Order: sequence, then C-alpha cells, then structure tokens
Amino acid sequence: MAACVFSIDVEDWFHILDLPATPELAEWPGLESRVVPATHRLLDLMDAHGVKSTLFFLGWVAERFPELVREAVARGHEAASHGYAHELVYTQDRATFLADIRKAKDLIEQAGGSRVLGYRCPGFSVTTQSPWFFDAVAEAGYAYDSSVWPGLRGHGGLPGAARVPTTLATPHGALREFPISLARIAGRDLYFFGGGYLRFFPLSLIRHMVRRVLAEGRDVTFYLHPREVDPGHPRLPMGARRRFMSYTGLHTTEPKLKALFSEFQFTRFCDILRNVER
Ligand SMILES: [Zn+2]
Repeated sequence: MAACVFSIDVEDWFHILDLPATPELAEWPGLESRVVPATHRLLDLMDAHGVKSTLFFLGWVAERFPELVREAVARGHEAASHGYAHELVYTQDRATFLADIRKAKDLIEQAGGSRVLGYRCPGFSVTTQSPWFFDAVAEAGYAYDSSVWPGLRGHGGLPGAARVPTTLATPHGALREFPISLARIAGRDLYFFGGGYLRFFPLSLIRHMVRRVLAEGRDVTFYLHPREVDPGHPRLPMGARRRFMSYTGLHTTEPKLKALFSEFQFTRFCDILRNVER
C-alpha cells in the first residue's frame, strides 16, 4: 500500500547552496547555529502526532551535535545521511564524493548508534554529469538513496528518471532509489511536497495532491529542512528568485505540517525497505 514518508535534511540556516554568500566549510563553526532547537521543534511536532520520520543528517551536524542524532533515534526516527560538507554532486569527482559520504556515514552511525542505510545528496544535485553516482553510494555501504529529482530544477535533476521507487543494479550491488514525488496536472509535472513548494502552495491543494498520488498507488515523499520551522533565522543575501524559494511562507510550514500529520499515515524509508526485502 502506498504511504507517506516525512523526511528532513538536517542542516543549518546557512547551508543554502550555490550562492555567492554561501559560507565555506571553514567558516561554519564561527556562525550562530540554530539547527538543534529547530530540529527539536520538528521532533516535538512529530511526537505530538505519533509521526516517525527519516532524518538525513549532514555529517558536519552529527559531528558537532552527536546528541541530536542520538535523541532522534531514541525518539523512534531513522538517522540517514546527507553527506558531510554539503557540496553539489556535480562539482565533485567520484573519489571526493565517495570520501565525503563515507565520512558522514561513519559520524552518523557513531552518534546514533544505529546502522545508516540511506543517503540523500545536497540540493537533489545528481545529474547525468555524474554517471558514477549510484555506484559510489552503493560502494559507501548505503542500501538506498533518495536523491533523484525526476525533472528539471535549479540544481540539476534527472528528467526521465523513474518516478516510482526502483532497485538499481550497480557494480557494487543493489541500491534502492526513492525519488522525490511529483504530481501531474494538465499534462505537466508539478511538485507540492517539500521545501518552497510546500510553503508556497495552499494546504487544500497539497492535501488534494497527496490523496491523488496515494490513490495512484505511489508513495509521497515529503522533504523539509529545520530552518523552515524557524522563521526568525538569519537570512543570506540572494537574488529575488532564490529568496522567494528559500524564504517564502516560512510561517505556514508548521500549521501545514500539523494538518498533514493529522490526516495521513507516515512511515520511514527503512520500514519501506524492509517490506521490499521481505
Ligand atoms: Zn541540504
């Protein structure tokens, strides 16, 4: 049966990609961090509704705040990996990428005390420019990936990729792919279930589209960042379009989540994977 997965890319307010103002890794420790209280807010919201989720921790966050990973796992959530240094996939070579996702996996496993099965790349930036991507994810020891954006987007995307979960055969073994969910309206692919889309579209439309995708027998993957329930976070300077995608509707996230958590059943990627393997 089709299910909803609520996934969170656990990173800080300054981890917005690919801007002239995006701070370098070396600058991160000197910046105000808000990821711990913002993630707590999401954990409390999920507890109040009995929702269990998959959290893709940035390795850097797990290294700095291991107790946050431990707490999420203790509260019944799945700790997965968002890589270490939050670099776009298509800016890296295979060896650099592999080292980054291995380091993150180790740090998150140490912090959470549980095996990390899943990976999601920064910015859904897997494109045809990195044909080694899925093999490298499998080589690093991950059992599944949730990085595919099956259409065009600012940071790449893979138009034409499968829109439903599939098992990919790689030289380093099988890898299950959970792509981001899209819905079709009037012959066009549209996204409703995460980030700026979830903040921009009205709740009534999002609910309608969730019901429609579920009725088609497809899972709905929601994705969010802790900063999206922290409207008071500092802003990075950026152009109008990116500002709209990054900061519009921040006050609407929490009420929307409450409504969605009340209406739909949520599961974790690791639970879906277990059912596939059975
Ligand atoms: Zn990210």
